[in-house]
Amino acid sequence: MVGFKKVPSKGILLAFFISVFLILLLYVDISTDESKPEEKVEVTENLENVIDDLITYKIHQVTTGENLSIIFEDFKVPLNTAYRIFRLDKKNLLTNIKPGDRMRFTYLGDKIISIEISKDNLNSLLIEIGDEINIKNITKDIELISSYKSGIIKSSFYEAAQDAEIPDSIIMDFAYIFGWDIDFVFDIREGDSFFVVYETPYSRGEKIENGDIVAAKFINKGKTYSANRFFTSKDKKEFFDNDGNNMQKAFLRAPLDFAYISSHFNPNRMHPVLHTIRAHNGVDYAAKRGSPVRTTGDGKVNYIGSRNGCGNEIVIQHSNDYSTRYCHLEKFKAGLKKGSKVIQGQTIGYVGSSGLATGPHLHYEFKIGDKRIDPVKVKLPSAEPISNELRPGFDTLVESNKLLMTKLESLRPNEAE
Ligand SMILES: [Zn+2]
Repeated sequence: MVGFKKVPSKGILLAFFISVFLILLLYVDISTDESKPEEKVEVTENLENVIDDLITYKIHQVTTGENLSIIFEDFKVPLNTAYRIFRLDKKNLLTNIKPGDRMRFTYLGDKIISIEISKDNLNSLLIEIGDEINIKNITKDIELISSYKSGIIKSSFYEAAQDAEIPDSIIMDFAYIFGWDIDFVFDIREGDSFFVVYETPYSRGEKIENGDIVAAKFINKGKTYSANRFFTSKDKKEFFDNDGNNMQKAFLRAPLDFAYISSHFNPNRMHPVLHTIRAHNGVDYAAKRGSPVRTTGDGKVNYIGSRNGCGNEIVIQHSNDYSTRYCHLEKFKAGLKKGSKVIQGQTIGYVGSSGLATGPHLHYEFKIGDKRIDPVKVKLPSAEPISNELRPGFDTLVESNKLLMTKLESLRPNEAE
């Protein structure tokens, strides 16, 4: 009621005038109120008709400790319907519900007509409820939507990629793919350009997962780098350049994520503990005690134990006569023993100060045959190139990717800026 609200908000001096208005307003209100009941009846009747035909949904996410009987009751599934559903579920599809599963209850008016239980992004169970009840497995149709993006760097790659409306996950993937050859902080120059084609899975207009890079190209300091996605086995996705060389190196540059070099490879170094000239045949990384140490390449544990100034030590034997050595570890990764297979990036131990060490750090060595090489400067070998067996399929893919890139390059959306 508008009139009543106005009274307290005005001063007493205005009371007289207001009471005049009030009477007027009340009159108006009453007169409109009088006309309302007729309208209401009309509206309600229409609404009821609509509601009878209205399809509505209720969403529920299964939480710990819930079971279907409880959920069905909460969502007004009639008891006899619930009974018929359970009796029909001969394959026990429904007993597998687990916390996190999403359920969608569909009603026609107030009558339940279906229940969908999403198991993951792609698979769900559909219970259709009519005169008969059906339970079926549904696999969503996936549509891959391709995106073509490009940009020219002004300050940072990240900024330019964001300007080109490339999603963060694709930006990260792009930097990872080319990150083996290009340092995205130090090597980037104004005018560098990038091109990327990625596909994103959609179902019923909804994004199912982050997109996946199909092909990409990066022109850095005038040099062109190309990457092509290729599945070398059903589950193994790898990126190769146009000649079939693996984009990935067989070794990570460093066995620690966030560490700085406290002592370089140096054949004539004064030893900090022994105080004699002794070659420093590796690199020391200062890092917090307990930081995870990763094997820089795939291989096999050749030595694990403690035998001299190296303290707790691991030696990994890689293919082609390469080996890497990790010293002064606080402890080893549980379960690791001589002969264990390790894959690149896997944690093998933790930074410590065992053996001859002034403080917690990792001493890391890189050996080819018997020769110890500076791990910071060594030209890292690439991971396995495309195999001869897969070569024909790969070459066809590269040809079509090249065409895509040429087309994308001719568009250059940001060139005018
Ligand atoms: Zn050292």
